[in-house]
Amino acid sequence: MYVVTIDPEVCVGCGECVRGCPAQILGMNDDGKAEVVGDDCMGCESCVLVCPVGAVKLDEY
Ligand code: SF4
Ligand code: SF4
Repeated sequence: MYVVTIDPEVCVGCGECVRGCPAQILGMNDDGKAEVVGDDCMGCESCVLVCPVGAVKLDEY
């Protein structure tokens, strides 16, 4: 399975990862940061590649 984590200290809230996720498992929280809101990540790496600041980490278990 794939697990995505977003570092809120690094995220600048651009929303690109949210828009680019084909599984729609990313969202924006009240702090204006991206967060994981669902499961079933497909491991496509879109969020990792689109993030301008390297805030997204993708692990496979
Ligand atoms: S790896 Fe793909 S499916 Fe998983 S959270 Fe990122 S964009 Fe969405
Ligand atoms: S692409 Fe990166 S900086 Fe933009 S909202 Fe997502 S995690 Fe934050």
